[in-house]
Amino acid sequence: MVVQKIVVLGGGESGVGAALLAQAKGFDVFLSDKGALADSYRLTLQDAGIPFEEGQHTEERILAASEVIKSPGIPATVPLVQKLRAQGISVISEIEFAARYTNARLIGITGSNGKTTTTLLIYHLLKTAGLNVGLAGNIGDSFAEQVITDTFDYFVLELSSFQLDDMYHTHLDVMVLLNITPDHLDRYNYDFDQYVASKFRILQNALPEDDFIYFAESQPIMTELARHTPAVQALPISLAKTVSPGGQLIDGQLTATNGEQSFTLAQAETPLRGPHNAINMLAAILAAQSLGVSRETIETGLKTFQNAAHRLEPAGIINGVQFINDSKATNVDSVFYALSSMDAPVIWIAGGLDKGNDYSQLDELVGQKVKALICLGVDNHKLVEYFGNTLSSIHETRQVEDAVAQGLAWAQPGDVVLLSPACASFDLFKNYEDRGNQFKAAVRNLLMNA
Ligand code: ADP
Repeated sequence: MVVQKIVVLGGGESGVGAALLAQAKGFDVFLSDKGALADSYRLTLQDAGIPFEEGQHTEERILAASEVIKSPGIPATVPLVQKLRAQGISVISEIEFAARYTNARLIGITGSNGKTTTTLLIYHLLKTAGLNVGLAGNIGDSFAEQVITDTFDYFVLELSSFQLDDMYHTHLDVMVLLNITPDHLDRYNYDFDQYVASKFRILQNALPEDDFIYFAESQPIMTELARHTPAVQALPISLAKTVSPGGQLIDGQLTATNGEQSFTLAQAETPLRGPHNAINMLAAILAAQSLGVSRETIETGLKTFQNAAHRLEPAGIINGVQFINDSKATNVDSVFYALSSMDAPVIWIAGGLDKGNDYSQLDELVGQKVKALICLGVDNHKLVEYFGNTLSSIHETRQVEDAVAQGLAWAQPGDVVLLSPACASFDLFKNYEDRGNQFKAAVRNLLMNA
């Protein structure tokens, strides 16, 4: 038999994992990255004896592939990918490739916001239940690499739209769609419908017995569902009305009904604040119920959950002023939920690289809650112009220390200084983690000198 040639494009976590899995399954593998590889990934490939190149794509070698596994970071529009497609060479994501080699039940989570929180929470609930479960996708260790030994019974997968775009046959047993709001439109020809279609690929292989959990107050989700009603067990989530089966938040109580199971717990008894986190928790509760996790275990799991950093993360209290790090809020919708979660006056730190933001969604909340705005970015003109009429106190800076100090200067005891940028971080920081870490360090410094 002729050994099939697999080419992996992109040598990050997913690409290197895919190359290792392909090698383990007996393929002839070649990895190509146009940029430089991180030292650890280069070493892994060398140790495994997998041929690779960096700083270039050698087209003849790539076009000789029987199948290509493409990193989600590479747009479908780059000429090389277009050439592959024109030649009829299958281009898939690492998730699609890895899913061929596992019998584990798959729980897939997508949405413009809340993916990581919900994925980690579902993983935590299943772990708390003692299930043999792995965590992968757009988070943590590569799915493909974990599948080499294939020891898990379940995988919880965080799925970005870029990963979904290159998935075709992967069957998910439980699907979660949290919301769809404009994001990453540069990768979808600035066409929101194309982005919606990408998110709905999560349903493409759904069977009638599978569970589909979604937020029923997301207009784009409901519009799309009205167009194509999928044959699947629908489990809607609502913040406004009673749904059964499904999940809702009523008078502060998280309530979920799924098949024979029902669950109720006051959100105040959980560590997660805000309406967005009620949606995320309801999604996780419904997913856990779908897999037969008991009421008691779900309650224990919710109460013991610790979210990842940079998501409404408490960063310290100085003179009665609370600092909150929400650096992961890189779009307007996240800020909407961050501000909705605040019950004290807010000094709001925002700014960075604007991805075509429309701030009108925040008008009411800013009017109600925000006392002052600190713009932390290279080019702040859009924020300053938009909020200049409503907010009398606006400060512009490129220094995170200065932003934090100005926040403290403007705040009264009991107020909150909230970093929730609505923008990407790359103008002043390496990434959103760097921005959040610098913010936390600046708060610590201020605290030591207070
Ligand atoms: P993702 O992985 O999709 O980026 P995260 O869980 O990391 O999502 O959260 C990113 C940001 O989105 C956080 O700042 C949070 O405040 C906000 N957020 C979280 N869940 C939701 C939700 N269900 N709807 C809207 N915004 C949310």
